[in-house]
Amino acid sequence: MLRFVVECCTLFISKGRSIALFASDVLVAILQQTATHAASAVLAVIAFYLSLVSTSLPPTQHDRQQIDKAIQLLADHGFSDEVFLLKGTTTFRATDHWLNALTEKENAYASTNFPFQIITLYPDFYTKATDDTERAMVLMHEARHLMGENEHEAYAYVWRHRKQIGWSMKTHGSTESYVTIEQQTREMAPELFNCPDKPWEDCTE
Ligand SMILES: [Zn+2]
Repeated sequence: MLRFVVECCTLFISKGRSIALFASDVLVAILQQTATHAASAVLAVIAFYLSLVSTSLPPTQHDRQQIDKAIQLLADHGFSDEVFLLKGTTTFRATDHWLNALTEKENAYASTNFPFQIITLYPDFYTKATDDTERAMVLMHEARHLMGENEHEAYAYVWRHRKQIGWSMKTHGSTESYVTIEQQTREMAPELFNCPDKPWEDCTE
């Protein structure tokens, strides 16, 4: 009787070990598959990013100075999150890579590829924008895209913070960029222009 019990117990333990070993094998297999797929996904993202960078040109030294001055202006006015992303995570380009060439341009100044953190700056960024403040405002908009914000959020954020960067009706109201971007902001974020008691019904005035 004792022998039977011991054998049963042995059988039970043996079966339990087999199940445990089987479960651990399955878990290892799942983890290996997951790791393989994750590594493949990372490699695919890196390959995609490199294809974007390799099919476009970087800004010239002169253009890079303009970009740096605009970023510094953002830093001087307290936009630390945007500056962190622009300085630490962004690859600037001067010409369209293959993906931008296939897609419609959002505006004439710049375009951003999120989450690849690539900002392409077009000639209007250097010429239509009249000074470093207007270039800083364009970069502020693109930096919001670097955070994953959509057009509505990016336009609304810049319009709400335009005076903080020193870009207002008083200082830049007659520039082509101000007029164009105000018009675009009215289309993208109409809720900011819904205050009849404010000048131009602009709730931020
Ligand atoms: Zn945008």
